[in-house]
Amino acid sequence: MILSNYISGEWQQGKGEGEGIPLIDPVNGEHLAHASSDGLDLAQALEFSRERGSRVLQRLTYQHRAELLGKIAEVLSRHRDDYYEICLRNMGATKGDAAFDVEGAIYTLKHYAKAGQNLEGEMIKDGDPVPLSKSGVFQGQHFLKPLEGVAVLIDAFNFPAWGLWEKAAPALLSGVAVFVKPATPTAWLAQRMIEDVIKAGILPDGALSVLCGSPGDLLDHVTAHDVIAFTGSAATGAKIKTHSAVVSHSVRVNIEGDSLNSAILGEDAPGTQPFELLVKEALKEMTQKAGQKCTAIRRILVPRKTLIPVCDTIASALKAMPVGNPRNAAVKCGPLVNKAQQTAVLDGIAQLKRECKVIFGGDQGFQPIDAESGSSCFVPPTLLRCDDPLRARIVHEVEVFGPVATVMPYDTVEEVIELGRRGHGSLVASIYSDDAKFTEEITRGLATTHGRIMVVDSSVGTQHTGHGNVMPNCLHGGPGRAGGGEELGGLRALELYHRRFVVQGPPELLNELSQSSVDFAALHG
Ligand code: NAP
Repeated sequence: MILSNYISGEWQQGKGEGEGIPLIDPVNGEHLAHASSDGLDLAQALEFSRERGSRVLQRLTYQHRAELLGKIAEVLSRHRDDYYEICLRNMGATKGDAAFDVEGAIYTLKHYAKAGQNLEGEMIKDGDPVPLSKSGVFQGQHFLKPLEGVAVLIDAFNFPAWGLWEKAAPALLSGVAVFVKPATPTAWLAQRMIEDVIKAGILPDGALSVLCGSPGDLLDHVTAHDVIAFTGSAATGAKIKTHSAVVSHSVRVNIEGDSLNSAILGEDAPGTQPFELLVKEALKEMTQKAGQKCTAIRRILVPRKTLIPVCDTIASALKAMPVGNPRNAAVKCGPLVNKAQQTAVLDGIAQLKRECKVIFGGDQGFQPIDAESGSSCFVPPTLLRCDDPLRARIVHEVEVFGPVATVMPYDTVEEVIELGRRGHGSLVASIYSDDAKFTEEITRGLATTHGRIMVVDSSVGTQHTGHGNVMPNCLHGGPGRAGGGEELGGLRALELYHRRFVVQGPPELLNELSQSSVDFAALHG
């Protein structure tokens, strides 16, 4: 099968020689599909999205566009069984892993469909009029207007469904056409979802496009009216930010990069609820999607006296965890997405070993259930321990994007804050403790280096939404290494797809413009 690209309002195949880049089944190495964008006219494709997609979308109100999101969610819901099958074949996803991505995508779309249903207007009014003259005849009013260009959405391989729709939903609600470039290894799911939406005829021509395979010269053709929303590694993010067309046209770029997230335990002993909740969450984060989540727990910070009990408890749970072919219903943890990721993770573990001791896993001769170790892409869940984290470097800098986490001790509150901040900007930290003073101090200490802080005590218990779970109504993103971007956060997400401007003039004009605008306060409600 060759994945078709949907650009300039039609299905087009790459025009290069050969079949393109293969997409594989990571359980048995079977070639499933090929992706190619060779020889396609991407300048024309982006122009089509701007001229046909955004222009027509912006003739509709926010409310109307919200209805379209609801229809997209309905179409995706109808085809979910196909998506689960693609997740299984192209990612070796267990049913739970597939649900996390597919249902997360549908949930996020529904969230924006609902959040936008009461937004009547063509622009957004930001705040009250600002007095600029003594008599009041001259005032200022801030507004936000949707970008006239196209939203170029570049996604990472690990969330082909959620990663696509968590960006596309706020962009489309804003009235900005989306041009999706899924990561090649898992492009099948994103391409298929887009095919289903296109076939359903919900959106105007050009509002939704998909390019499979290499980005080619895509970024050469971005303009000042466009926005790039990127998710992926910090290294690729840096390339995109410094691309010559991006720099010369001051193109807005939102980067969701990688992250060394931490889970932090207070002085809560084994047997207490916070201890049990931390262990449960660490285990889930290591094995869900085989640890291929930007938000996964990579560093587990615990009081020195709890170091051994935490290691022992997680290790014994990992020992009982069936890892292998997800077609076997007993399996709870699947493979990595391809051989390149397997090699990268094994290399990452080797690097961590320079500063850490392996507590569980890490063996290259690992035998997965119902799969050949040679042709498959498994890495066994691996728990490490770093005894001197303040002097360590690699454990705070190398993101091992697989089922891998490191436990490390701390002695004081200052130390745990220092260790958390050593991730140089992270997406999320979670704190587990019944000591309210401790959780408050850590929250304050990590606030400027983390996009999200989740605090769990016994009163919250199991009712929390999850360390690695991104909620559409809460902010997603993080400073520094995590990219410095901001996504979701409910209707706050619309800001990325709008440009703010201020009109200074007579109040009658400002009033007139305000009449057809949504109040910005509604976005933050
Ligand atoms: P990646 O290698 O950086 O690739 C990400 C995307 O960028 C892919 O679509 C890739 O296309 C594209 N790309 C590569 N080079 C490009 C260039 N020069 N110009 C334009 N696009 C380019 O990342 P990945 O391996 O797919 O994903 C894993 C990483 O993503 C991890 O580090 C993880 O932490 C991070 N991530 C972050 C978040 C978040 O929300 N912060 C979420 C998920 C994942 P090809 O696939 O065709 O090369």
